[in-house]
Amino acid sequence: MKKPSLQQNIFRNFAVFLVVFLFIASLLSFYNQSPFHQSEEVDIATFVTQIKKGEVEQVTVEGEKLNITLGDGKKEFTRKETEESLTTLLKNFGVSTKQLEEVKIVVKDSTTSFFILSSILPFIIPFLLIGGLIWYMMRQVQGANNRALMFGQSRARELNPEKKRVNFKDVAGLKEAKTELEEIVEFLKNPKKFNALGARIPKGVLLVGVPGTGKTLLARAVAGEADVPFYHISGSEFVEMFVGVGASRVRDLFRKAKKTAPCIVFIDEIDAVGRQRGAGLGGSHDEREQTLNQILVEMDGFDNETNVIIIAATNRPDVLDPALLRPGRFDRRVVITLPDIKEREAILIVHAQGKPFASDVDLHVLAQRTPGFSGADLSNVLNEAAIFAARKNKKKIIMQDALESIEKVMLGPERRSHVMNEKEKKITAYHEAGHALVAHVLPDADPVRKVSIVSRGAAGGYTLKLPGEDKHFHSKAEFIADLAVMLAGHAAEKFIFNDVTTGASDDLRKATKLARKIVMEYGMSEAMSFRTYGEKEELIFLGREIGEQRDYSEETARMIDNEVSQFLNNSYSKAREIILKYKEKLENIAQTLLEKETLEQEAFEALMKA
Ligand code: ADP
Ligand code: MG
Ligand code: ZN
Repeated sequence: MKKPSLQQNIFRNFAVFLVVFLFIASLLSFYNQSPFHQSEEVDIATFVTQIKKGEVEQVTVEGEKLNITLGDGKKEFTRKETEESLTTLLKNFGVSTKQLEEVKIVVKDSTTSFFILSSILPFIIPFLLIGGLIWYMMRQVQGANNRALMFGQSRARELNPEKKRVNFKDVAGLKEAKTELEEIVEFLKNPKKFNALGARIPKGVLLVGVPGTGKTLLARAVAGEADVPFYHISGSEFVEMFVGVGASRVRDLFRKAKKTAPCIVFIDEIDAVGRQRGAGLGGSHDEREQTLNQILVEMDGFDNETNVIIIAATNRPDVLDPALLRPGRFDRRVVITLPDIKEREAILIVHAQGKPFASDVDLHVLAQRTPGFSGADLSNVLNEAAIFAARKNKKKIIMQDALESIEKVMLGPERRSHVMNEKEKKITAYHEAGHALVAHVLPDADPVRKVSIVSRGAAGGYTLKLPGEDKHFHSKAEFIADLAVMLAGHAAEKFIFNDVTTGASDDLRKATKLARKIVMEYGMSEAMSFRTYGEKEELIFLGREIGEQRDYSEETARMIDNEVSQFLNNSYSKAREIILKYKEKLENIAQTLLEKETLEQEAFEALMKA
């Protein structure tokens, strides 16, 4: 929601006051005419005549006002001079004592209380209202001033230690990172031990790793273990529209931290402010530089006695300013990698807590099926599995739910509603059958886990093949087998229908990319010398390329292109060969797919043995 501006605010308050004021005013004027005053005013002569006739039952004297109740219940009123008493008045008008005795006379002390109130109130209320309005507006303006002053304060939130405390045991795997951070905890708990030996305690720890690997979680766990205040701020929160805010927030944050030392300051996503200075693209880097400078100044500022430890997290260590990384600042780097199979199982165990699983669920198998998944992905898998189970109104989560959610996280949700016509379905079946067949036949390719012609995400169908264990190295033979499997869909379509569809284009793109890597990066081409081509600005452990700088001649470029084509052609021939040789099996798989839509590993292998 958009917050109303100050002017809007005042204006709205003013309008509210105006309405309230008008309401009260109209109420008062209404009240002035009605219910008490429904009686009719008469003159004194009439009143006297009525008394003389004996029609009057009661007279209530209220100061100068006489409220008269007649025998028939009618009410009226009249006025006399204030000083003159009623009896004197009546006597003067010649009312006899006897006539007077028949009338009940009540004297009310009206000059005080109500009378005063009712005459003064109409004057006072507007003053009160206007006074109130002025006071309220002043307060508003002051509030705005205060808020403007708050602007330069850090937005750091102190983590409530009672609420949802995280400990190291909640962080699965990440052994090296934990060991490193345990030292920090030890220092926060017991600084004397280190100081006595003259050890300089690291001031800053930089957690580096791809998103979702548990950097934020780990930092919170450090706070939980050390049992000290924990200030959490995100790098982007330093940077605001106004110049100088970032630096002032840094100052404020560190002032607070020093006051509550020992404590931990956690700057998440520090690359938002910590980028290399002077390298800013776009114009707004001045402010960021000031902020960064302030961080550097503050980190240098505290001495060894001050137990403030700064933990920062980033997934772009390559863009950080070198000044941040020099000893005395973030001199410790803890690299957090994607979890291996054992760590994945451990993470799954942590997140399986509180979820009712059927006995057929094997977390080890789930870990096997999820290479390349981050901790966040894994926690997402189990959550999706629980949602699947709940949607089917089951009491427990079964293995099938979990396997399905892995595919969902990997490839996007199934699109069963996506209707393919018979022709498209047939083409998809043969295409996927081609991938599966070649993957099965080639010993260097990973085993097939599942083949399906149900659409998922952007893919029309899919063939899942996963290694039995995590691999850190890949051989040339494996790559060549992979290329053949990738191209097999295209080859199968061409073989069966003597035509190809656009469905194979994604396969081709992936195959081309892999072939280029084989030639240019891995030095696996015989024809090219043993070197890499292209100076890549690549984030090694992120596996993402930002740009490439050509460091070879035109002629070499042509040679590279030739080699890449060579690899692709050879692989395509290999795939075609296999498809020709086992065309009955291809037929078998495709027909089964058309019938059942999905084949799991066991069913697929049985089919291949037949
Ligand atoms: P990052 O900050 O590295 O992007 P987070 O720390 O925010 O990632 O992790 C996101 C979520 O993933 C965590 O809240 C947690 O549920 C899960 N997670 C990630 N790594 C682990 C791990 N090692 N153990 C347990 N849960 C993890
Ligand atoms: Mg994070
Ligand atoms: Zn394909």
